[in-house]
Amino acid sequence: MIRVFFEKQGHLPAFVCDVCKKRIESGKGIYVYLPDEESSEVVTVCKGECDRKVKSQAGRTYWGEIPALLGFLIHNSGTTHEEVKSDMDFNDRVR
Ligand SMILES: [Zn+2]
Repeated sequence: MIRVFFEKQGHLPAFVCDVCKKRIESGKGIYVYLPDEESSEVVTVCKGECDRKVKSQAGRTYWGEIPALLGFLIHNSGTTHEEVKSDMDFNDRVR
């Protein structure tokens, strides 16, 4: 899942583990989804114990690294990496 953390430097959206509910640190999480006909809910989990728990409970799953998920979301939302960077720069200025 995604949550927004209110910190000194601003409001920071970040991935949270759907199993242990802790914030997922950079490079230490994956996204997981189940094979289905039309769509599937996506969960984000810590690598290791949490991802093994989800995979063992769900049976067959697909998974990938979170940076790949971000790339797919940018592409599939019809925006570009340049637009994302521009929007993030704008949000930095209004904090
Ligand atoms: Zn976890």
